[in-house]
Amino acid sequence: MTGPRLRIAPSPTGYFHVGGARTALFNWALARQLGGTFVLRIEDTDTERNRPEWTQGIIDALAWLGISADDPHFEGPYLQSSYTAQHIAAALQLVESGNAYYCDVSAAEIEARNQQAVDAGSIAQGYGGWSRDRNLGPGPDRVVRFRVPEGTTVVRDVVRGDVEFDNSLIEDFVLLRGNGAPVFMLANVVDDMHMKISHVMRAEEHLSNTPKQQLLWEALGEQPPVWAHLPLLVNEQRKKISKRRDKVALEQYRAEGFLPDAMVNYLMTLGWTPKGPEVQPWEQMESDFRLEDVHLSPAFFDVRKLAAFNGDYIRMLSAGEFLEASRPYLLGPDAGFPADRFDESKFLAIAGHVQPRCITLADAPGVVDFLFLADPVIDADSWAKVFSGAQATAVLRGAISAYESLPDWNADALKSALEVIGAANELKLGKAQAPVRVAITGRAVGPPLFEAIEVLGREESMRRLRKAEAALD
Ligand code: GLU
Repeated sequence: MTGPRLRIAPSPTGYFHVGGARTALFNWALARQLGGTFVLRIEDTDTERNRPEWTQGIIDALAWLGISADDPHFEGPYLQSSYTAQHIAAALQLVESGNAYYCDVSAAEIEARNQQAVDAGSIAQGYGGWSRDRNLGPGPDRVVRFRVPEGTTVVRDVVRGDVEFDNSLIEDFVLLRGNGAPVFMLANVVDDMHMKISHVMRAEEHLSNTPKQQLLWEALGEQPPVWAHLPLLVNEQRKKISKRRDKVALEQYRAEGFLPDAMVNYLMTLGWTPKGPEVQPWEQMESDFRLEDVHLSPAFFDVRKLAAFNGDYIRMLSAGEFLEASRPYLLGPDAGFPADRFDESKFLAIAGHVQPRCITLADAPGVVDFLFLADPVIDADSWAKVFSGAQATAVLRGAISAYESLPDWNADALKSALEVIGAANELKLGKAQAPVRVAITGRAVGPPLFEAIEVLGREESMRRLRKAEAALD
């Protein structure tokens, strides 16, 4: 791949977040559209918070979204922790060139000096560049600090335009800690440089790091990448979504039965507006996506809208695809019926009527359970409501005798027969269906009744109708 090189650089400190997924998709779309490369770099240098299973979680989450490590545009995963020597070398190069220096002023001393300033009626200024001209060499507990130059730093951001930062407000930040360990700011830049990253597209919260990083690029003698900071994702209260307040783990949506295509499509609309209908195939979004069109204002991560997308995507599946996608739920412990009673052919026969009744795949078992339960429990309220008058009893008895002798057991014939019985009892079809539905499915609502009865089959349907009749006496 010779085109641009983009990347995501997640830290493996928890479940992969929907915001991280949006960033990944935008980068992925552009990398593929431009014939470039999407690099996955795991920033695993925070040894206290990292866990290897989170790294695997990121890889799995990306694969679920269709960002596959097997794709020729994909490169990595690289682990930041394997490049510590390069990070240190870069810091030493900066000391060598005069852009960084050793400092022995401890955190406690910085605090004490600031306190003195406050006591003297001045304001605390953090680290005051006190070791800049002391020409210290390396030594125990000495940190390496970057010498922030005077002037202003202009970050050219494709989304935000030029953002100016006054360098006098940026203190001489640490590059190497007292124990010699590189800090995030340095590692992130050095890795981007070594990995020849051309575009850094990431969440807005990193914008405040960008002037420091740009200064590092320049001091290391390289051209900074194209910067693009994506708008925040906010909740209904317009607060930044967070794992404390909101459901943000991609894994959780996956477990709840959201389809990856629906998730991908929805995430692509957060901060960017697809041309034409919002629900559209990935290929379209991949070719239309432009960084210049990304919005500035925060994007509302609307779970209800995501659910609506998911419902649309469920309806678009073929019966076979729907079966495959729902299988874990249909055969899982929460299905509500024994797995060994599940019958694929029955499910496939009614799938088209089940799909519109599902928001997530986890809804599927509850729509079809009556087909696979030996004896669905009849909902007492529905029963009491439906069989409150004499008409319902008459309809049920009428249905039993008409259905017994029905030559063809199919939805049309079942419907016509019940229409006749309803008319004889002065009931429209909708009303006449109610007692039959409760007897067959146990509930007052569900998929289209006659299709359900056809799929359930003559023998079992007649048994349930007769059982309901017996219960009336
Ligand atoms: N490791 C950083 C994070 O997960 C990524 C920073 C970046 O994308 O440059 O927030």
